Amino acid sequence: MRLCWLRNGALLGLTFCLAAGAPARGEDWQAARDRAAQLLSGMIRIESVNPPGGETPAARLLADALTGRGIENQVLEGAPGRGNVVARLPATHPDGRGPILLLSHLDVVPADPEAWAFPPFSGAIRDGHVFGRGALDDKGHGVVFVEALALLHESGRPRGRDLVFAATAGEEVDGAGAIWLIENHWDLLGPPVAVWNEGGASTSLPEAAGRIVHSIATGEKRSLWLTLVTHGEGGHGSTPVADSANDRLIRALARISEWETPIRITPGVGLAMQRLAETLPPLAAFVARNAGNPLVQLLAGDRLTASRTLNAMVRDTISITVLKSGLKHNVIPRRAEARLDIRLLPDTDAAAFIRMLETVIDDPEVEIVLPERGLPPVIPASPAEHEIFAAIEAEMERSLPGGVTVPVQANGATDSLFFRARGVPAYGFLPVQVDAELGGTMHGLDERIPLVELERAVRVTTAVLARITQPSDSGPSDGKR
Ligand SMILES: [Zn+2]
Repeated sequence: MRLCWLRNGALLGLTFCLAAGAPARGEDWQAARDRAAQLLSGMIRIESVNPPGGETPAARLLADALTGRGIENQVLEGAPGRGNVVARLPATHPDGRGPILLLSHLDVVPADPEAWAFPPFSGAIRDGHVFGRGALDDKGHGVVFVEALALLHESGRPRGRDLVFAATAGEEVDGAGAIWLIENHWDLLGPPVAVWNEGGASTSLPEAAGRIVHSIATGEKRSLWLTLVTHGEGGHGSTPVADSANDRLIRALARISEWETPIRITPGVGLAMQRLAETLPPLAAFVARNAGNPLVQLLAGDRLTASRTLNAMVRDTISITVLKSGLKHNVIPRRAEARLDIRLLPDTDAAAFIRMLETVIDDPEVEIVLPERGLPPVIPASPAEHEIFAAIEAEMERSLPGGVTVPVQANGATDSLFFRARGVPAYGFLPVQVDAELGGTMHGLDERIPLVELERAVRVTTAVLARITQPSDSGPSDGKR
């Protein structure tokens, strides 16, 4: 139980709230949902596809929404057209605790209109959904943060600490916006003592009779994007050469695609499996609890790698994503290229992995082009024992009771990485319930968010922000209490 504050910040007697995160007044959630849906629709209509990005109009739209709700903000371009928006909701009753950063990104991955069932950049609101690229990843999250911040601001609840909001450019390629903000405007970002970002959601687990699992990303795999280049003699297709650039590349790729990288249970995945085990039937629970045991891996390895998601959690992975070669049907090209999207476990040494890859390719003539930014460093996961984690866990339990909250190692890379690298804990979670089909629309076809889930996200986020800004009784007073 916590003390309830009135709208003007004064404490009226010893009134107690049963629910710590309950807003100080009744919210019109329908109106909040409609505002969020309209703003999200507008964001989706801005085609901030990366590359090239062009995020500034999206940054301005969020900035206008923040200004309209009385929250100070600024749009900052790290490069022409690559706008980021940063806003701050200052503490009303500072208690000495540092700012929390609410992070999202403005850019989206491409969408092929031919393959989608509806136009990917229409932002249509109908049939109970907001449709379009970015609805879940990650414009939806930015919009939810804006609405929740505004509701908290308007509620008049006292806040013991600053909340900072940032929506960045460039996340989908290399995190250029977040990196630029961190290097040039660290103080403006808080400086943050913790970050709440994208990376997890709630889903019901078929293996556990539909029990809901709230996955909060505490760590993530790191991207290692390599390019393989081969050269060879060119010529007319009618007179083949022995070792053409294409032949050499195909041989290398065949070896890579047959290579089974070793299964390895990181400490973060081990902890997640311990928590998940309580939801599983006995045999699956045994495998989950003992996933780190080599004998269990030998006997039940198939089970650990049965789903694409699980497989990616327990090993370094390689996807061959781009092949480039050839100009004409009857011309042997002199150069061929393949791009590898490699995702390393948080504690895999990138240089050591590349040495293993060279052994697998077994051809010194295949050139491995390293990323311009260098190799990704080892970055440990954030601790699950943290007030953001606890607040999300408590509010998701209120929203979707009976679930289990699990710290997860996300398979994708996000901007959280750059904060963890600075020692700032970061937590990835969009408070929505998605099934496998809906979750698969992120970076896939027909991305959309149900309005009921948009409303859930606004409600839960508002309540979590209320919890983590609740002035602490022990902190210094600014005299306004
Ligand atoms: Zn994203």
